[in-house]
Amino acid sequence: QPIDELIAGLTVDVPDHPEPGIVFRDLTPVFADGPAFRRVVDGLAAPAHSDPRAAALADARAGERAFDVVAGVEARGFLLAAAVALDAGVGVVPVRKAGKLPRERIAADYALEYGIATLELHTDSVRPGQRVLVVDDVLATGGTLTAAIALVEQLGGVVAAVAVVVELAALGGRERLAPHTVHALWTT
Ligand code: IMP
Repeated sequence: QPIDELIAGLTVDVPDHPEPGIVFRDLTPVFADGPAFRRVVDGLAAPAHSDPRAAALADARAGERAFDVVAGVEARGFLLAAAVALDAGVGVVPVRKAGKLPRERIAADYALEYGIATLELHTDSVRPGQRVLVVDDVLATGGTLTAAIALVEQLGGVVAAVAVVVELAALGGRERLAPHTVHALWTT
């Protein structure tokens, strides 16, 4: 079964969540299904190996993997990033909502439908030149991932790839993240 059909079949649409008029894509059944989760984790790691920017860097260090660390965005991105990192034999770093990280950190604001939110990253989570695979569950407007990418790059990290399980194409997130390419396992 193609991975997009697998994800689509397990995702549950929740009308009017978190507010009237919004259809929330609930991916928790995808994560709860062992074989589906396996395929999602494999699929998220794959783009880093085919992304030209990451590939060019990998060539210089022949035989190595295409990313050095995986960054996951709170909270569902944590589930994915940890699994991808463990599988690849690299570490995982959390991109967190404001106020959660205890040590020296940098912050990036991003727009929500109403107001702004802030993501933070410990300054020692990414070293200059490290290749970072940035992972989240859903790409909607792209504000969240734009902020996560900005944090990684502010610390000198190289975004090896941006990977999501589901892309909600109508919201224009892909365009917003350019020139970074988004790898989505299911675009709807
Ligand atoms: P964006 O910043 O508008 O791209 O929204 C993406 C962020 O909001 C991600 O961290 C997602 O986890 C979350 N999100 C937005 N829409 C949905 C949805 O329909 N299902 C699950 N998460 C969503």
